[in-house]
Amino acid sequence: MTESPSTTRRGIARRPLLGLALLGALASRARAADDLSAVLDPSARPETLYDEGEWCEGPVWAPSLGGLIFSDVRRNRMMLIREGGGAEVFREPSNNANGNAVDGQGRLITCEHRTSRIVRRETDGAITVLADRYEGGRLNAPNDVVVARDSAIWFTDPTFGIDQPKEGKPRASEQNGRYVFRLAPDGTLAVASASFVQPNGLAFSPDERILYVCESGETAASEIRAFDVADGKLSNERVFARVAKGVPDGVKVDTDGRVYAGTGDGVRIWSADGRPVGHIPTEGPCANLAFGGPDGRRLFLCAGKRVLAVETKLRGAAIASEGSRP
Ligand code: MG
Repeated sequence: MTESPSTTRRGIARRPLLGLALLGALASRARAADDLSAVLDPSARPETLYDEGEWCEGPVWAPSLGGLIFSDVRRNRMMLIREGGGAEVFREPSNNANGNAVDGQGRLITCEHRTSRIVRRETDGAITVLADRYEGGRLNAPNDVVVARDSAIWFTDPTFGIDQPKEGKPRASEQNGRYVFRLAPDGTLAVASASFVQPNGLAFSPDERILYVCESGETAASEIRAFDVADGKLSNERVFARVAKGVPDGVKVDTDGRVYAGTGDGVRIWSADGRPVGHIPTEGPCANLAFGGPDGRRLFLCAGKRVLAVETKLRGAAIASEGSRP
């Protein structure tokens, strides 16, 4: 049997439609799969590792220091939880330290509220001040920090640590704004964004072409904003997601580009294109979170007096880039 010309034409005409239909079906399957089951086993439950804090924050997986470091901001100390072990004091007093990150050489970078500094802990334990002033005035109270692959250190400088006695040491601000800063590898400190009421957590997409920054000002919309990143500069500021309860505080990204934020009712998760993926509830607000553990798949949560951990199916983007660093 031979095809008539009209059948052939119909066949040709249908193929693109069939292709589009198949693509649509695949896309909707991908969307359907990107729910919380893509992130967590349905039976996974966060386990409490520590419940004697006052306000736990700044978790970071630091293999060179033995495990998970976090800050108990209001108790003015930093703690270390070793793999399979209990919590021990890591640094006290910590100058009301808050956010932490690990650089490409495994050194701890810490935000200090009380002293308004970004510091680096050298491998011998000595503390080096990396930034404490901008244009002659003391910084406000650096809150959270992330290290880019080019070794630039990006951090936020809201005023919680100089406004709230429990968080640091009250004093007047010496800055004209609450900025997102970039500290270049050569030590040059520059304002990367001046558009926040109170900038807080920050994290890069896996390719470091997008920076997410949380707005946690009470008078501002509770939102996570995204920026394009090129040559150490931010552009194309937009709202990535809004938070229903409380404010977004810490934020992290997994290797697929999903965005995780600590909020007023736990961790909220969005796909890279901003669709809600799921919720990991906590008792009270979740301030911050970090991927880590021996295989990078454990998600650590700082929620009030508690530090929790839950196994995920993914790795954090920052953990992956640590591994790829020379
Ligand atoms: Mg914070």
